[in-house]
Amino acid sequence: MSDSFSQLSLAPALARAVAEMGYESMTPIQAQAIPVVLQGRDVMGAAQTGTGKTAAFSLPLLQRMMKHENASTSPARHPVRALVLLPTRELADQVAQQVKLYAKYTHLRSAVVFGGMDMKPQTLELKAGVEVLVATPGRLLDHIEAKNCVLNQVEYVVLDEADRMLDIGFLPDLQRILSYLPKQRTTLLFSATFSPEIKRLANSYLQDPVTIEVARANATASTVEQRFIGVPDEDKRRAIHHVLRERGLKQAFIFVNSKLGCARLARSLEREGLKTAALHGDKSQDERLKALDAFKNGAVDLLVCTDVAARGLDIKDVPAVFNFDLPFNAEDYVHRIGRTGRAGASGLAVSLVSPSDTRLLTDIEKLIKITADVEPLPLEDAGARPVGRYNDGRRHWGRDTDDDEPSRPSRSEGVRESAGRGRGGSRSSPRAPVDPFFDKPYEPGASSGDVPAWEKAAKPVGRAVSANIRSKKRVPALFKAPQMPAPAEPVVAPVEPVPALALADGQPVG
Ligand code: AMP
Repeated sequence: MSDSFSQLSLAPALARAVAEMGYESMTPIQAQAIPVVLQGRDVMGAAQTGTGKTAAFSLPLLQRMMKHENASTSPARHPVRALVLLPTRELADQVAQQVKLYAKYTHLRSAVVFGGMDMKPQTLELKAGVEVLVATPGRLLDHIEAKNCVLNQVEYVVLDEADRMLDIGFLPDLQRILSYLPKQRTTLLFSATFSPEIKRLANSYLQDPVTIEVARANATASTVEQRFIGVPDEDKRRAIHHVLRERGLKQAFIFVNSKLGCARLARSLEREGLKTAALHGDKSQDERLKALDAFKNGAVDLLVCTDVAARGLDIKDVPAVFNFDLPFNAEDYVHRIGRTGRAGASGLAVSLVSPSDTRLLTDIEKLIKITADVEPLPLEDAGARPVGRYNDGRRHWGRDTDDDEPSRPSRSEGVRESAGRGRGGSRSSPRAPVDPFFDKPYEPGASSGDVPAWEKAAKPVGRAVSANIRSKKRVPALFKAPQMPAPAEPVVAPVEPVPALALADGQPVG
């Protein structure tokens, strides 16, 4: 199969937009999915963000809608024909931006609606008529109920990141939305994994779908160097400073397991002189977009985020990713480190493994079929205390004998957030910096009087076409991906039930 876009005979307006994007050849998901969607078949695709799947569904849908293209100003001439549903605001925004770019030389209109934003500008756009509507389920239902959009002419539906939508608990909303749509339609479902739940969803809503699998769901990119550093909780920030210094790294993502931990860590790192922003579910949409913008334009160097807040962010070539907390769900490890080493660039993923992380580490090892070589933090950073798991095949820790037991307290947010005062922290560390913030109760969103430097510095969000679409122009070259990763061999994704995700943010959006 040729992987050149010229083989597709796209409408000139679409071909021009693709050429302008600088895409030289199709990614594997594009090469496989585009011809199938052009034929009008339903698709069940196993592909993650970063594989080029947005173009894989957008381009053929736009191509098929070209016959309806018109320059009329009448809303009736621009009914919703394609509906793209995504689990998070950030993903919806990113997909909408891409759709807009692909459609920029056509008269096909697109819009995005998601929660956390004023409904009015969205309503105005919907009432003016749009052919492609990108939405999160909750907000779409709000608009349906308010009669701001009619979906009886929808011909194409895309359920993107379907596994995440189920994780978040969007199934009832999806079922309701799908019940409003014409039965005769093309349905595309994309998911990182094909769990039994996803298969049930597909059986209910897809007709004779073509299954496309381009990358093993649980594969980590070979371009990512994975390091595991054994370090007690109270030394984790020190470990971050050490690795940043050692590698001369300027920017990184730091993943934590809870909103509370996210806010606290960002605050501590900021106090330690690192330009840091937090990205978690208690942040308003505007704050999240600002944080992202600040990271992209270099006003912020470290973005501390929870899994839900970071999911699917289209930020490429982040030089390093830290797992400050090992994720509860091993699959999130794959998602997290997928932020780095993208598009063939080399990346570094550093996991800070505390003595109580044995089970989580074992889960990751099993999932990605590696044996983690847990290295100690170098002595100059860790003082005289040897830390880390000796690699003699047994799980034991060199620091304190009572850390040797493999079991650990349950990872409730309270336990997680007591890092530095809990098991490890109770043995006082002479070097652990005292942070009075740790003794204060957490106050979500109470930052207005104490705005970190980066937030003050962040530029306002651009308003390119709609209030919800940000211009991509301010993203520096660092984030540009001239080429996609080398095509992965088609493999059969392991069919395993996805355990209910322990959502750090715990709240659906949209
Ligand atoms: P996605 O997986 O759809 O989120 O796409 C990830 C990134 O890859 C986006 O920034 C796209 O602009 C980019 N991309 C998509 N298709 C291609 C392609 N054929 N060649 C190079 N980059 C691409």
